[in-house]
Amino acid sequence: MKAAVFDHQRAEDVAQAARALAEAGGRAKLIAGGQSLGPMLNLRLSRPQLLVDLSDLAALASVERQGQELVLGARLTHAAIEDGRHPALVGHPMQQVAAGIAYRAIRNKGTLGGSLAHADPAADWVVALVAMGAVLRLQSPRGERERPLEGFMQAAYTTELAEDELITAVRVPDMTDGRWGYYKFCRKPGEFADASAAVCQVAPGAPWRLALGALDGPPLLLPALAQELGEPGAAPLAQSRLRLAVAAALPEHDPIDHQLHAVCLARALEQAGWPARAA
Ligand SMILES: Cc1cc2nc3c(=O)[nH]c(=O)nc-3n(C[C@H](O)[C@H](O)[C@H](O)COP(=O)(O)OP(=O)(O)OC[C@H]3O[C@@H](n4cnc5c(N)ncnc54)[C@H](O)[C@@H]3O)c2cc1C
Repeated sequence: MKAAVFDHQRAEDVAQAARALAEAGGRAKLIAGGQSLGPMLNLRLSRPQLLVDLSDLAALASVERQGQELVLGARLTHAAIEDGRHPALVGHPMQQVAAGIAYRAIRNKGTLGGSLAHADPAADWVVALVAMGAVLRLQSPRGERERPLEGFMQAAYTTELAEDELITAVRVPDMTDGRWGYYKFCRKPGEFADASAAVCQVAPGAPWRLALGALDGPPLLLPALAQELGEPGAAPLAQSRLRLAVAAALPEHDPIDHQLHAVCLARALEQAGWPARAA
């Protein structure tokens, strides 16, 4: 099948993109890398009358260091992050996450903002950046606002973005002194995850955040389990404890799913320097 007819407009700047969305009253869509929207158009799951193209907005592909944070433009591609094309990205855990997304042709075009707005539950940034405590910068004709990524995704392919709003940037910790792990199960490289988990402590002494991904909806944080890690003198968690915590958090999932997510969590914790005890 081919896409239904639509108009195409190259945005000149962020304000003009937001105005075009507002004027179209819900009949326009942004296009960034087109790696998710393209298939949706061709399958006619999405039939916008207008595509507002962000390709020319170089300002949305910038990386800035602000104190202990990086402010990443929404139009940064997965490949730009993987390659560490800005010095602040070199050594950042997002490089490892980006390198595991699909295959290089997709990563050359697909963008950070497009992935978060598309909100596929099995996508990598959705879970990895929730664990990192990322914050989104959103722009509409009414002005700019910031919103934690946690809670932004409401269900599969559903976010709280207004129809005239775009993601302009994502704020993430620089992770210079942080600890981090991310693991996903895919049937073969380049496919979306069947199960995933991310763990993060942004600085020594900061609270841990543990997130499970590739669920039916948004990623799920495990705050009680995270607290056990943060206790002074805490010992590594036992694998059985991880399985129980996952089963309790995902009662509607089957035992195979519990096991896959528990193993993802154990491997992510191992990367972060917390190998789980066998017992
Ligand atoms: C074969 C294949 C395999 C893939 N495998 C993986 C994988 O393993 N892991 C993974 O995470 N992803 C995977 N993807 C998805 C890929 O990462 C996409 O790049 C990403 O989901 C969307 O980014 P995009 O820039 O192409 O967005 P687009 O396709 O251009 O847009 C996607 C959606 O986001 C909206 N949008 C785009 N930019 C913005 C913005 N700045 N603000 C607000 N809304 C915006 C669009 O309107 C649209 O609704 C795969 C895709 C394909 C085709």
